[in-house]
Amino acid sequence: MQAILQQIQSEAQSLFGKGQVASYIPALAQVPPRQFGMAVARVDGRTYEVGAAHTPFSLQSITKLFAFVLALKLVGDELWLRVGREPSGAAFNSMVQLETEKGIPRNPFINAGALVITDILTTRYAHLDIALLGALRRLTDDANLSWNARIAKSERDTAHRNMAMAYFMKSYGNLVNPPELVLDNYCRQCAIEMNCAQLAQATLFLANQGRDISKDGHPGEQFLSADAARRVNALLLTCGAYDAAGDFAYRTGLPIKTGVGGGIVAVVPGKATVAVWAPELDGKGNSVLGGFALERLGELVDWEAGV
Ligand code: GLN
Repeated sequence: MQAILQQIQSEAQSLFGKGQVASYIPALAQVPPRQFGMAVARVDGRTYEVGAAHTPFSLQSITKLFAFVLALKLVGDELWLRVGREPSGAAFNSMVQLETEKGIPRNPFINAGALVITDILTTRYAHLDIALLGALRRLTDDANLSWNARIAKSERDTAHRNMAMAYFMKSYGNLVNPPELVLDNYCRQCAIEMNCAQLAQATLFLANQGRDISKDGHPGEQFLSADAARRVNALLLTCGAYDAAGDFAYRTGLPIKTGVGGGIVAVVPGKATVAVWAPELDGKGNSVLGGFALERLGELVDWEAGV
């Protein structure tokens, strides 16, 4: 596995310069573009890393996965009254479907859907950032995990489109809390930082029937039921990469979640999780080198052979 990761890292270098770092959130435009890190965490406790696997990056939309899991744990199937579970086929920040579909977003992984999820969590938690960080600190076994105040402010200051969506959904009665409050929480959530090693560790429960695995490979808490974990993976496969979900599913064959910070996390059910980070994005907001790395990993690794 280590040799495969090194091969992928060296092949990926040729793609530097083919994408661009996100710039619509001003603070993200300052991230040096030519970086690449990758980490694999296996359910048996073995881990592998290459490149900048310990450099923290902005999780952005990858946090939609964790927020969704928390909301699912809290309200269960009731959640589906307020958000759908179909791929949108539209950009992550698109508003077009919201009007014809009466303020019900297509799925929890596009911005509109994530805002509804954040609204559900805002109703439940007085300090959502602390609740979310608490869960993520447990999953990563890292008490220092935090959100980046500079990036949160930068996004909040320029979140006009997300604010418009929040108000629009409010007009349809699909937002309970004040849009300003939901946006504050959403921007802090998106600004949570992790490195690849932590991200692979934090998502292991999805590869392990909902049960967390500690850093030393021992079984941890049943973070989510096995049934719910299976369903979350289905949703990640069909909706995890916005309007490139079909392409990513075809290329990687895996449930994944991407973010405009350049991170992607992938689940190999029953086997492992893979986190990759490279901040240069394609036109749909997904990491160019990240997509390549996951596609190559699928070609090179025989997960059944246990390499
Ligand atoms: N915080 C970003 C936004 O709302 C997240 C988008 C993303 O990662 N695709 O625009």
